[in-house]
Amino acid sequence: MATDPAEVYRDGLAHGELRYQRCQWCSTRFCSVSLLCATCGGADFVWERSSGHGRIHALPRAVAPADWQECTAVVELDEGFRMQARLAPTAAHRIWRGAPVQLEVAETDDGSLRPLFRPVAA
Ligand SMILES: [Zn+2]
Repeated sequence: MATDPAEVYRDGLAHGELRYQRCQWCSTRFCSVSLLCATCGGADFVWERSSGHGRIHALPRAVAPADWQECTAVVELDEGFRMQARLAPTAAHRIWRGAPVQLEVAETDDGSLRPLFRPVAA
């Protein structure tokens, strides 16, 4: 497995997986690649794979039907960490705080991969 954290993360996306780091000292989980734990300052992380299931934790603003193309939300994964990510095109009535979402991997215009969350029926 690759050792460069950014590469491990990208490699996960290439496999349809969201990988995250867990601090071995305090078990805080991070979606972003960290060198030091923001909670305890520890430097030992292990990689884990998210189930890809989570819920919308916060929305930047009320979502109008015409807005979903640009909709970004803070998603809380079942593992207990949060990340900011775009939502897949979805009917507006499916987007609310607490709505269940499922990870998908999307390709951006420049060919890189990014996590995307699709609201699923509750
Ligand atoms: Zn820690």
